[in-house]
Amino acid sequence: MRALSLLYHDVVEPGDWDASGFPGSAAATYKLERRAFERHLAAVSAAAGRRGTVQQLAAAPPPGPPLVFLTFDDGGASAYGCIADLLEGAGWRGHFFITTDYLDAPGFVTRRQVRDLAARGHVIGSHSCSHPSRMSRCRPEHLREEWTRSTSVLADLLGEPVRVGSVPNGAFSRRVAVTAAAAGIRRLFTSEPTMRCDTVDGCVVIGRFLLRSNTPAEVAAALASGKLGVRLRQLWFWNLKKVAKAVAGDAYLALRRTVYD
Ligand SMILES: [Zn+2]
Repeated sequence: MRALSLLYHDVVEPGDWDASGFPGSAAATYKLERRAFERHLAAVSAAAGRRGTVQQLAAAPPPGPPLVFLTFDDGGASAYGCIADLLEGAGWRGHFFITTDYLDAPGFVTRRQVRDLAARGHVIGSHSCSHPSRMSRCRPEHLREEWTRSTSVLADLLGEPVRVGSVPNGAFSRRVAVTAAAAGIRRLFTSEPTMRCDTVDGCVVIGRFLLRSNTPAEVAAALASGKLGVRLRQLWFWNLKKVAKAVAGDAYLALRRTVYD
Protein backbone atom coordinates (compact mmCIF):
# COMPACT_ATOMS: atom_id res chain seq x y z
CA MET A 1 0.00 0.00 0.00
CA ARG A 2 1.43 3.40 -1.01
CA ALA A 3 0.25 6.99 -0.78
CA LEU A 4 1.81 10.39 -1.23
CA SER A 5 0.75 12.68 1.58
CA LEU A 6 1.72 16.31 2.00
CA LEU A 7 1.70 17.84 5.49
CA TYR A 8 0.69 21.46 5.91
CA HIS A 9 -0.40 23.47 8.94
CA ASP A 10 -1.97 26.95 8.84
CA VAL A 11 -2.36 29.45 6.02
CA VAL A 12 -2.37 33.12 7.06
CA GLU A 13 -2.59 36.60 5.57
CA PRO A 14 0.84 38.23 5.01
CA GLY A 15 2.69 38.58 8.30
CA ASP A 16 -0.32 37.63 10.43
CA TRP A 17 1.40 34.50 11.76
CA ASP A 18 -0.52 34.17 15.03
CA ALA A 19 -3.99 34.50 13.44
CA SER A 20 -4.35 30.73 13.07
CA GLY A 21 -3.05 27.78 15.06
CA PHE A 22 -0.43 27.76 17.78
CA PRO A 23 1.27 31.15 18.33
CA GLY A 24 4.97 31.95 18.29
CA SER A 25 7.89 32.17 15.92
CA ALA A 26 8.67 28.44 15.95
CA ALA A 27 5.09 27.57 14.99
CA ALA A 28 5.22 30.21 12.25
CA THR A 29 7.90 28.25 10.40
CA TYR A 30 5.22 25.66 9.65
CA LYS A 31 2.65 28.19 8.36
CA LEU A 32 2.33 29.46 4.81
CA GLU A 33 1.18 32.90 3.75
CA ARG A 34 -1.94 32.74 1.62
CA ARG A 35 -0.23 33.70 -1.64
CA ALA A 36 2.47 31.08 -1.08
CA PHE A 37 -0.14 28.42 -0.39
CA GLU A 38 -2.04 29.39 -3.55
CA ARG A 39 1.18 28.86 -5.51
CA HIS A 40 1.71 25.50 -3.79
CA LEU A 41 -1.84 24.41 -4.54
CA ALA A 42 -1.59 25.35 -8.22
CA ALA A 43 1.76 23.55 -8.56
CA VAL A 44 0.61 20.46 -6.67
CA SER A 45 -2.65 20.32 -8.64
CA ALA A 46 -0.69 20.34 -11.89
CA ALA A 47 1.78 17.68 -10.69
CA ALA A 48 -0.39 15.21 -8.79
CA GLY A 49 -1.20 12.11 -10.82
CA ARG A 50 -4.21 11.12 -8.74
CA ARG A 51 -5.93 13.20 -6.04
CA GLY A 52 -7.81 11.54 -3.29
CA THR A 53 -8.68 11.10 0.34
CA VAL A 54 -7.64 8.41 2.73
CA GLN A 55 -10.98 6.60 2.33
CA GLN A 56 -9.81 5.54 -1.13
CA LEU A 57 -6.65 3.88 0.22
CA ALA A 58 -6.86 0.22 -0.72
CA ALA A 59 -4.74 -2.84 -0.03
CA ALA A 60 -4.55 -3.48 -3.75
CA PRO A 61 -4.31 -0.05 -5.36
CA PRO A 62 -5.13 0.26 -9.05
CA PRO A 63 -2.14 0.60 -11.39
CA GLY A 64 -0.90 4.11 -12.09
CA PRO A 65 0.32 7.01 -10.01
CA PRO A 66 -0.15 6.91 -6.22
CA LEU A 67 -2.98 8.77 -4.53
CA VAL A 68 -1.98 12.24 -3.32
CA PHE A 69 -3.43 13.40 0.01
CA LEU A 70 -3.36 16.99 1.28
CA THR A 71 -3.32 17.05 5.09
CA PHE A 72 -3.45 19.94 7.58
CA ASP A 73 -2.44 19.57 11.22
CA ASP A 74 -3.47 21.39 14.39
CA GLY A 75 -7.02 22.58 13.58
CA GLY A 76 -6.16 26.27 13.27
CA ALA A 77 -8.89 28.73 12.27
CA SER A 78 -7.55 28.99 8.72
CA ALA A 79 -8.74 25.45 7.98
CA TYR A 80 -12.23 26.86 7.71
CA GLY A 81 -11.67 30.49 6.86
CA CYS A 82 -9.21 29.96 4.04
CA ILE A 83 -7.83 26.50 3.26
CA ALA A 84 -11.07 24.58 2.63
CA ASP A 85 -12.32 27.25 0.20
CA LEU A 86 -9.04 27.23 -1.74
CA LEU A 87 -9.00 23.41 -1.86
CA GLU A 88 -12.57 23.21 -3.11
CA GLY A 89 -11.86 25.89 -5.72
CA ALA A 90 -9.06 23.67 -7.03
CA GLY A 91 -11.13 20.48 -6.92
CA TRP A 92 -9.55 18.95 -3.80
CA ARG A 93 -10.87 17.68 -0.51
CA GLY A 94 -8.46 17.89 2.43
CA HIS A 95 -7.72 16.11 5.68
CA PHE A 96 -8.01 18.31 8.78
CA PHE A 97 -6.51 17.03 12.03
CA ILE A 98 -8.03 18.71 15.06
CA THR A 99 -6.38 19.27 18.46
CA THR A 100 -9.63 18.86 20.37
CA ASP A 101 -8.73 20.77 23.57
CA TYR A 102 -8.45 23.87 21.37
CA LEU A 103 -11.87 23.60 19.67
CA ASP A 104 -13.64 27.00 19.89
CA ALA A 105 -10.46 28.65 21.26
CA PRO A 106 -9.19 31.88 19.63
CA GLY A 107 -7.19 31.03 16.51
CA PHE A 108 -8.73 27.57 16.17
CA VAL A 109 -11.76 26.12 14.40
CA THR A 110 -15.10 25.94 16.16
CA ARG A 111 -17.29 22.88 16.60
CA ARG A 112 -19.78 24.23 14.08
CA GLN A 113 -16.98 24.77 11.53
CA VAL A 114 -15.73 21.19 11.96
CA ARG A 115 -19.23 19.88 11.26
CA ASP A 116 -19.43 22.06 8.17
CA LEU A 117 -16.02 20.91 6.88
CA ALA A 118 -17.11 17.27 7.21
CA ALA A 119 -20.42 18.00 5.45
CA ARG A 120 -18.42 19.53 2.58
CA GLY A 121 -16.54 16.25 2.09
CA HIS A 122 -13.31 16.96 3.95
CA VAL A 123 -11.84 14.26 6.19
CA ILE A 124 -11.80 15.11 9.91
CA GLY A 125 -9.35 13.35 12.20
CA SER A 126 -7.79 13.55 15.65
CA HIS A 127 -4.51 15.35 16.32
CA SER A 128 -4.72 14.38 20.03
CA CYS A 129 -6.43 16.43 22.77
CA SER A 130 -3.55 18.52 24.08
CA HIS A 131 -0.80 18.25 21.43
CA PRO A 132 1.85 16.64 23.70
CA SER A 133 5.40 17.68 22.91
CA ARG A 134 6.55 14.06 22.60
CA MET A 135 3.66 11.65 22.39
CA SER A 136 6.02 8.69 22.13
CA ARG A 137 7.15 9.47 25.70
CA CYS A 138 3.67 9.84 27.22
CA ARG A 139 2.75 7.42 30.01
CA PRO A 140 0.39 4.66 28.77
CA GLU A 141 -2.72 6.08 30.45
CA HIS A 142 -1.97 9.58 29.13
CA LEU A 143 -1.46 8.25 25.61
CA ARG A 144 -4.71 6.30 25.80
CA GLU A 145 -6.55 9.39 26.99
CA GLU A 146 -5.16 11.53 24.15
CA TRP A 147 -6.53 9.18 21.48
CA THR A 148 -9.77 7.98 23.11
CA ARG A 149 -11.02 11.36 24.35
CA SER A 150 -10.11 13.27 21.16
CA THR A 151 -11.77 10.72 18.88
CA SER A 152 -14.84 10.61 21.10
CA VAL A 153 -15.14 14.44 21.17
CA LEU A 154 -15.03 14.48 17.36
CA ALA A 155 -17.42 11.51 17.04
CA ASP A 156 -19.96 13.27 19.27
CA LEU A 157 -19.57 16.36 17.15
CA LEU A 158 -19.96 14.60 13.81
CA GLY A 159 -22.41 11.88 14.82
CA GLU A 160 -20.19 9.12 13.44
CA PRO A 161 -17.01 7.30 14.52
CA VAL A 162 -13.71 9.02 13.78
CA ARG A 163 -11.19 6.53 12.41
CA VAL A 164 -8.38 8.84 11.25
CA GLY A 165 -5.63 10.57 13.20
CA SER A 166 -2.25 12.27 12.92
CA VAL A 167 0.63 12.25 15.40
CA PRO A 168 1.66 15.65 16.87
CA ASN A 169 5.32 16.63 16.53
CA GLY A 170 6.10 13.61 14.41
CA ALA A 171 6.70 11.80 17.73
CA PHE A 172 5.77 8.41 16.37
CA SER A 173 6.48 5.05 17.95
CA ARG A 174 4.90 1.63 17.65
CA ARG A 175 3.24 2.21 21.04
CA VAL A 176 1.64 5.42 19.71
CA ALA A 177 0.16 3.39 16.83
CA VAL A 178 -0.97 0.49 19.05
CA THR A 179 -2.79 2.91 21.36
CA ALA A 180 -4.34 4.73 18.40
CA ALA A 181 -5.54 1.39 17.00
CA ALA A 182 -7.06 0.47 20.38
CA ALA A 183 -8.96 3.79 20.30
CA GLY A 184 -10.49 2.81 16.92
CA ILE A 185 -8.13 4.75 14.63
CA ARG A 186 -7.64 2.84 11.37
CA ARG A 187 -5.56 5.38 9.44
CA LEU A 188 -2.74 7.13 11.30
CA PHE A 189 -0.61 9.81 9.62
CA THR A 190 2.95 10.40 10.84
CA SER A 191 5.68 12.84 9.75
CA GLU A 192 7.97 10.12 8.41
CA PRO A 193 8.80 11.21 4.85
CA THR A 194 7.84 8.01 3.09
CA MET A 195 5.21 6.75 0.65
CA ARG A 196 5.20 3.30 2.19
CA CYS A 197 2.29 2.39 4.46
CA ASP A 198 2.68 -0.08 7.32
CA THR A 199 -0.03 -1.77 9.35
CA VAL A 200 0.02 -1.93 13.17
CA ASP A 201 -2.83 -3.80 14.90
CA GLY A 202 -5.13 -3.16 11.96
CA CYS A 203 -4.22 0.53 11.78
CA VAL A 204 -2.55 1.69 8.55
CA VAL A 205 0.37 4.02 9.33
CA ILE A 206 0.92 6.56 6.56
CA GLY A 207 3.99 8.79 6.18
CA ARG A 208 3.89 12.43 5.11
CA PHE A 209 6.17 15.01 3.53
CA LEU A 210 6.34 18.27 5.52
CA LEU A 211 6.04 21.65 3.82
CA ARG A 212 7.33 24.70 5.69
CA SER A 213 6.76 28.43 5.24
CA ASN A 214 9.91 28.74 3.14
CA THR A 215 9.42 25.58 1.04
CA PRO A 216 9.21 26.60 -2.64
CA ALA A 217 6.09 25.56 -4.55
CA GLU A 218 8.34 23.66 -6.96
CA VAL A 219 9.39 21.32 -4.14
CA ALA A 220 5.75 20.63 -3.27
CA ALA A 221 5.09 19.90 -6.95
CA ALA A 222 8.10 17.57 -7.17
CA LEU A 223 6.91 15.72 -4.06
CA ALA A 224 3.35 15.43 -5.42
CA SER A 225 4.64 14.07 -8.70
CA GLY A 226 6.48 11.35 -6.77
CA LYS A 227 9.98 12.40 -7.87
CA LEU A 228 12.47 10.26 -6.03
CA GLY A 229 15.27 12.81 -5.54
CA VAL A 230 13.26 15.29 -3.52
CA ARG A 231 11.71 12.48 -1.43
CA LEU A 232 15.14 11.08 -0.60
CA ARG A 233 16.34 14.56 0.41
CA GLN A 234 13.49 14.86 2.93
CA LEU A 235 14.26 11.38 4.23
CA TRP A 236 17.93 12.27 4.67
CA PHE A 237 17.10 15.41 6.69
CA TRP A 238 14.48 13.54 8.72
CA ASN A 239 16.97 10.86 9.71
CA LEU A 240 19.55 13.51 10.57
CA LYS A 241 16.97 15.19 12.86
CA LYS A 242 16.22 11.83 14.48
CA VAL A 243 19.89 11.37 15.29
CA ALA A 244 20.04 14.89 16.76
CA LYS A 245 16.99 14.13 18.90
CA ALA A 246 18.48 10.85 20.10
CA VAL A 247 21.82 12.43 20.97
CA ALA A 248 20.61 15.69 22.51
CA GLY A 249 17.23 14.49 23.82
CA ASP A 250 15.48 17.16 25.87
CA ALA A 251 18.21 19.67 25.05
CA TYR A 252 17.15 19.38 21.40
CA LEU A 253 13.54 20.14 22.37
CA ALA A 254 14.60 23.13 24.46
CA LEU A 255 16.65 24.38 21.56
CA ARG A 256 13.69 24.22 19.23
CA ARG A 257 11.52 26.01 21.85
CA THR A 258 8.42 24.61 20.24
CA VAL A 259 5.80 22.00 20.83
CA TYR A 260 5.23 20.68 17.41
CA ASP A 261 5.67 19.93 13.79
ZN1 LIG B 1 0.64 19.52 15.30
